[in-house]
Amino acid sequence: MNDPIRSIDTKLIHAGEPRILGAVAMPIFQSATFDAAGQASYHDARYIRLNNTPNHTALNTKLAILEGGEAAIVTASGMAAITTTLLTVLATGDRVLAQRGVYGGTHGFLTNECAALGIGVDWIDANDRSSWERARGPRTRAIFVEAMTNPLLEVGDLEGVAPFARAYGLVSIIDNTFATPVNFRPLELGFDIVVHSCTKYMNGHDDIVAGVAIGSAQWVQRITHRLNHLGGSLDPHAAFLLHRGLKTLAVRVRHQNESGQRIAEFLHAHRAVERVYYAGLPSHPSHARARALFTGCAGTLSFDLVGGAAAAQTFVSRLRLPIQAPSLGGVETLVMLPALISHANLAPEERRALGVGDGLIRMSLGIESADDLIADLDHALQPLTTSRRGNV
Ligand SMILES: *Cc1c(COP(=O)(O)O)cnc(C)c1O
Repeated sequence: MNDPIRSIDTKLIHAGEPRILGAVAMPIFQSATFDAAGQASYHDARYIRLNNTPNHTALNTKLAILEGGEAAIVTASGMAAITTTLLTVLATGDRVLAQRGVYGGTHGFLTNECAALGIGVDWIDANDRSSWERARGPRTRAIFVEAMTNPLLEVGDLEGVAPFARAYGLVSIIDNTFATPVNFRPLELGFDIVVHSCTKYMNGHDDIVAGVAIGSAQWVQRITHRLNHLGGSLDPHAAFLLHRGLKTLAVRVRHQNESGQRIAEFLHAHRAVERVYYAGLPSHPSHARARALFTGCAGTLSFDLVGGAAAAQTFVSRLRLPIQAPSLGGVETLVMLPALISHANLAPEERRALGVGDGLIRMSLGIESADDLIADLDHALQPLTTSRRGNV
């Protein structure tokens, strides 16, 4: 009770701030190597690749506190966090249960690199615990899920994962990129390791690539030693930008929660829109679960237009505020067609099996005024409203 740092808003500002030489903002320590006095082992040598500069350690402390973990290790990208974590938990001969429809880079790593290393993957439906039981075998070592899937924003049976993993001695790993610790803290549900692409909401300014793995001190030390060898270390300047970006995470994400809800409702009521995917809407299959687990559903949503792929092209070309680009979670609103970008390497029937139609539009809301965004969306939808079908 005596700790003045209680809410996540205060943690973002004050947790893990070393105030070096009294500096209010964390300075950049642009030094590749440091005085070795007192070094005990290889991993303690003070060198950028060993992830122990002042910029690393300040971020690690802050990121661990934000997710409620004992420790954290910041990495050169979200993929560096995911691959290094999986390569720490899994060895040749092991198998991992992974949620169908995971992020494309994770899917590629699990199918291509893991296969080459003799690590097997069994795909599961995150909604269906019985599918986990059926897929689990004697060599299964871990279960990997995401807080919300891309691009349909589905929320799996996340409460079931940690008890299932504990019952069978598996390591539970969750990618919390889409929810952020402002909306959801999986370690509180018993997950072992949380990973993020800090490129997205955590940094929030579309100007760096970074990642993090958070969990027990023991897991984080093992992941750090693996990372020290694999080399996916964050550069001090990127660390500085992530540190700065994190300070505004709560105000950004709360704005995006509110805009997400308002814009999802606007689109849902629009006659040119066929279907909206946003877990904050009662019509979304994960609505009840998102309400139970999350503070908000953040600013990423997807939708299909009545006119399909042709209408989607017209719509996107008429937008004036959203920028057509991949990625998400930044202060600028971005829009893209997953069939042409994030899911372009899948065959059309594979995309359809994941529920990704050729006209599906994904939007990542920034922190512009929701009124301005709604006016721009309305304008872009205008030539498409003559169709007879619709939601209302
Ligand atoms: C972007 C993303 C990643 C990969 O992160 P990078 O920082 O681009 O390496 C992993 N998981 C999810 C859910 C993502 O959105």
